[in-house]
Amino acid sequence: MANRDKAARQLEDHCTAQKGKSDRLTTSTGCPIDNKLATMTAGARGPVLIQDFVFTDEMSHFGRERIPERVVHAKGAGAFGYFETTHDISKYCKAAPFESVGKKTPVAIRFSTVGGESGSADTARDPRGFAVKFYSEDGNWDLVGNNTPIFFIRDPMFFPSFIHTQKRNPVTHLKDPDMFWDFITLRPEATHQVSFLFSDRGTPDGYRHMNGYGSHTFKLRNKDGEYVFCKFHFKCDQGIKNLNRHRAGDLSATDPDYAIRDLYNSIATGNFPSWSLHIQVMTQEQADKHRDNPFDLTKVWSQKEFPLLPVGKMVLNLNPKNYFAEVEQIAFSPAHMIPGIEPSPDKMLQGRLFSYSDTHRHRLGTNYLQIPVNCPFAARTRSYQRDGPQCVTDNQGGAPNYFPNSFTGPMDSKSYEQTKFTCPGEAARYETGDDDNYTQAGIFWRDVLSEADREATVDNMASHIKDAAEYLQKRTVVQWGKCDEDWGKRLEAKLAEYKTQASATANL
Ligand code: NDP
Repeated sequence: MANRDKAARQLEDHCTAQKGKSDRLTTSTGCPIDNKLATMTAGARGPVLIQDFVFTDEMSHFGRERIPERVVHAKGAGAFGYFETTHDISKYCKAAPFESVGKKTPVAIRFSTVGGESGSADTARDPRGFAVKFYSEDGNWDLVGNNTPIFFIRDPMFFPSFIHTQKRNPVTHLKDPDMFWDFITLRPEATHQVSFLFSDRGTPDGYRHMNGYGSHTFKLRNKDGEYVFCKFHFKCDQGIKNLNRHRAGDLSATDPDYAIRDLYNSIATGNFPSWSLHIQVMTQEQADKHRDNPFDLTKVWSQKEFPLLPVGKMVLNLNPKNYFAEVEQIAFSPAHMIPGIEPSPDKMLQGRLFSYSDTHRHRLGTNYLQIPVNCPFAARTRSYQRDGPQCVTDNQGGAPNYFPNSFTGPMDSKSYEQTKFTCPGEAARYETGDDDNYTQAGIFWRDVLSEADREATVDNMASHIKDAAEYLQKRTVVQWGKCDEDWGKRLEAKLAEYKTQASATANL
């Protein structure tokens, strides 16, 4: 039979692993069940008895099967593997995974789309989440990035509003091009990322053919307490492959789970995807003198000025054993750092440091870090936190639950001190909307995109903008004309073409 790939054969493989033998069926309490083919009723045609625990146990659990969907990044795929350090970066960073060349650290990854619901199409035009959890001996380090090195906004104040514009209109429950292009043209710092999004990299061919970026600026600290700022880049070893708009659209209809299926089958057949990790580093002095704000998430650091330094390789060689347990419940947070990796003043990072852990406590509960996939198993968690809903460990047994104490409770150590830093000014709300929104997008248009890429990008943009109100279309033409005059003109011409086509169709 056609199309019986590894994903399609999962149940048959389970059968083989069981050697064709079924386990004893029980209730959730482990009590063996005599008959699962009928409820217990008072007579053959009588009502169901409330004493039928086999039924009520099953139904009441079923009614609680769903946990809140992630507000963003709801649709995703996960995998496991390892990260291996191949180059010594100890002069920059003392973090455990980079301790020595050859060192391997287990990792978990979750790829995702951003705006769609958990049943939405994998090939939608959207950034892709690229979140990696390193299970290190100093605790879990989460690098929670995307397949782009930049983002739409540089101040986290806008995050909920921005996401609302990518989701559904509250009245129509439809995606709304007016909401989308209104926000983008009112907040021109989105220009650079929207330009990436509407190139064909906005519709990657599955999750194996795209780069990943830590996106934010981080601080690395070495054993001597010296620090540099850093950007993380995962370069795809499979090569970049994108879908054009038409193929992405077709797949949305015929195989909305295209990217999940592709990743699962690739790993299941031993074709393990990998990425090479690189860093860019910048000293405090370079940061102080730089023409751009190096902590602005809408900008890259030019690789010509700050070259990529090789660090290691990440290989994904294991599929999840159970999607809900290990992918739906995996919880990443940029606040999950380890000694050697610290925050920078990047405002977006600062906003995320708070909000990710906060949302996991809502979605999964206070003890979400006890869930096996989230548990820092390579480190031994010892703290003064206790109790809370669904505490499933020994709750740290008889150890003291207050600090300081005289009873050998866990002790802190100055050796893990973070870098001290000075804050540069008065506390206020500093608006950043006009902080050079166009230079890098202009370079992208002129120096990075090929002519074919430019054509595709303009067509991808126009085919989306054409559905927005006319005055919003005009605003986009002005905005992209500020990146490059040619870009604005070509966008205007393409929109005019779509308008002519639409009126020709209307007159048929
Ligand atoms: P470089 O020529 O050194 O780098 C260009 C980068 O662009 C490469 O990393 C390349 O990634 C990436 N790229 C190619 N096509 C696309 C695309 N359609 N969408 C997104 N990225 C793409 O130049 P600079 O570092 O000086 O940067 C020049 C411009 O390149 C920037 O203004 C920015 O717009 C863009 N860019 C820069 C990145 C950076 O970190 N400096 C990263 C990504 C984009 P690959 O090697 O995988 O093909």
